[in-house]
Amino acid sequence: MATQEIGSILSRGAATAELLRPLPPAAHRGPSMVVGLTGGIGSGKSLVASRLRQRGARVVDADAISRELTAPGGEALELLASRFGSDIINEDGALDRKGLAARVFSDPQALEDINALMHPLIAQRAWTQLRATPDGVLAVYDLPLLVETNAADLFDAVIVVDAPVSLRLQRLADRGINHEDARQRMAQQATASQRRAVASIWIDNAGTIDDAHALIDAIDEQWLLTPVRPRTQAT
Ligand code: ADP
Repeated sequence: MATQEIGSILSRGAATAELLRPLPPAAHRGPSMVVGLTGGIGSGKSLVASRLRQRGARVVDADAISRELTAPGGEALELLASRFGSDIINEDGALDRKGLAARVFSDPQALEDINALMHPLIAQRAWTQLRATPDGVLAVYDLPLLVETNAADLFDAVIVVDAPVSLRLQRLADRGINHEDARQRMAQQATASQRRAVASIWIDNAGTIDDAHALIDAIDEQWLLTPVRPRTQAT
């Protein structure tokens, strides 16, 4: 069976991927192999997640779970209300996001408290879903704060999506996020070198959307579906 060496590069148009660390054998796909997926705002992480989903991966999305937990009847609401008061729940029973954001703005401890309440609930739900992945199916955890929360060691492999800052700003502007807000968010997130330090696969999403799709297909076919060996162990 084909193997790939550490340091290999795949490219499709202007999109490239670099293999920085060995991946577990493909035979371990399923509940015993979970890939973490992360990237800064506007990098194209969601695009990669949806392509992998289309290709049959089970993608569990931390942000989606967070929204479920704070929707009407959500498990996190009571805990948040006990910390911030019942007026952070709207009349329709959902979390008052604007109200909570205002509290975070005026109370430096608030964000830490929200994270302390939310992260264990999100992780519990996410890992239950990831562990239920059928054998042979790639399990992917889309976790924006993977690096910021030091979660890399929980995964068998980590995919990091990046793109030149100018392209990220442009793509976010097309989505209605102005440059100043985007830069502020980027400054609060992990740096590219912090992400690179934990990446197994580094994706530079510098091409078109078609390039990105073709690259993800190649990554799946050539790296995730075949065993990868580090250079020192290659025969
Ligand atoms: P993230 O989840 O990392 O914040 P998204 O995947 O939502 O990023 O991408 C940000 C925006 O850029 C989206 O509107 C997306 O459609 C667009 N986008 C992503 N990759 C590309 C690309 N290669 N070419 C053009 N636009 C892209």
